[in-house]
Amino acid sequence: MTATAEFEPVIGLEIHVQLSTKTKMFCGCALSFGEPSNTLTCPTCLGLPGTLPRANAKAIHFGLMIGLALGSELAPRSIFHRKNYFYPDLPKGYQISQYDEPLCRGGQLGDVRIHRVHLEEDAAKLVHAGSSGRIHGSDASVVDFNRGGTPLAEIVTEPDVRSAAQAREWLTLLRTTLRQLGVSDVNMEEGSLRCDANISIRPVGSTALGTKTELKNMNSFRYLERGVNAEIARQETLLRSGGHVVQETLHFDPQTERITSLRSKEEAHDYRYFPEPDLVPVSTSDEMLAAARAAMPELPAAREERLQSLGISAASARQLAWRTELGDYFEAALAAGNPPVGAPIQPLANWVCNDLVRRVGEEDPNASQVTPAALAKLVGLVSEKALTVSNARLVLDRLVADGGDPAAIVEALGLGAMGGGDDVLDPLVDAALAANADAAEKIRSGNMKAIGAIIGHVMRETKGRADGAEVTRIVRHKLGL
Ligand code: ADP
Ligand code: MG
Ligand code: ZN
Repeated sequence: MTATAEFEPVIGLEIHVQLSTKTKMFCGCALSFGEPSNTLTCPTCLGLPGTLPRANAKAIHFGLMIGLALGSELAPRSIFHRKNYFYPDLPKGYQISQYDEPLCRGGQLGDVRIHRVHLEEDAAKLVHAGSSGRIHGSDASVVDFNRGGTPLAEIVTEPDVRSAAQAREWLTLLRTTLRQLGVSDVNMEEGSLRCDANISIRPVGSTALGTKTELKNMNSFRYLERGVNAEIARQETLLRSGGHVVQETLHFDPQTERITSLRSKEEAHDYRYFPEPDLVPVSTSDEMLAAARAAMPELPAAREERLQSLGISAASARQLAWRTELGDYFEAALAAGNPPVGAPIQPLANWVCNDLVRRVGEEDPNASQVTPAALAKLVGLVSEKALTVSNARLVLDRLVADGGDPAAIVEALGLGAMGGGDDVLDPLVDAALAANADAAEKIRSGNMKAIGAIIGHVMRETKGRADGAEVTRIVRHKLGL
């Protein structure tokens, strides 16, 4: 491989989703939301001998919904396996998971194909208590079994992702989809959505896959993007200097940006999978399929299409559909504004996607002081030319800060657009032309850029209440253009 070769990243994602069922995957214990340690346990999820697991019907229902959302093939029959390994957070010595007969196979979301979706149970939580928990003089680690047995869906993609940014964007789409389905809290920071990235690089033009590494458990979108970029850079440096990538499992430390090895291929577990003898196979009945289909909401991809069919630009439609709360806000504003059939609604989309988002940031606009009805009214004032765009932005600042009614704010601040009547603007334009003789001359000789000085003058005089287009029209008229 020459030092100048261009490389292409190849990335496949494995996502663990904690399902928001009432009870655990194989027992009747409630799921934990920060209850005191080891209070939500029973002999089954503690792995005591002689106990029998029973599969959670709701988790299977959620799994089928995920499969439907991803366009997967839903297996008429799937089975659970024991995945054997030893770790303190796994009291049975094996995790019940699915192996070669998963619940869902194949599918596609956005531009990434899905390999499979299967169900399994989460491990318990190992807490490194450090010196505060010293036992017999050594640092202690303790186990909280509340999380043990929480239902998980694992979604595995094909290696179709080509950059860290695409991984992040796609994960956003997946998260929105799962949230719409109502199957999980999908909170990365709290661990209800966890993502591993499998990463390799190859010379551009090559179709063979390079040796991959696996970056474990990135717990935020930002870390995912940074971690993947760091690993791509590490592999490139390695290959360019004549080395080769070793298959291993890696950890990315967002604080130091360092990548460390957790284990190499030689140390990889041999899980000795075998069918779980204590569980019957999952037979997906017609009733179960019908129930999953009936529970399906409108998904982001469909919403994106519907918004586009209303005449909204592709970029806005994607933004509104992929950020559910933004889409909900927009649709509420649209309903409140009740625009006549056929009226353009892109301006409203622009105000939501640009001006409002810029002001409320990551905050859910539905929780802001600006009600959807108020924003619809504001946009209505602009389109009726009762308010200039720049003054509408001032009103929006006020709405974000204090809420209220846009018309009342316009009234109180005297921001209403000046009547289009020439009687009002005429003398102002005359004064502006007189005060900016240079600019007037340039405009006369065809340099329309110079009109900025005239408009600026009128705007200063009117505190921004004049309509710029109207001023332009009058200037052209006066100068005989
Ligand atoms: P493993 O057996 O190591 O778990 P899998 O074949 O199950 O590997 O794939 C796990 C994930 O890794 C999938 O998301 C898959 O798309 C991805 N993957 C597989 N091979 C590569 C590769 N060479 N480069 C990048 N990703 C890969
Ligand atoms: Mg795998
Ligand atoms: Zn239990």
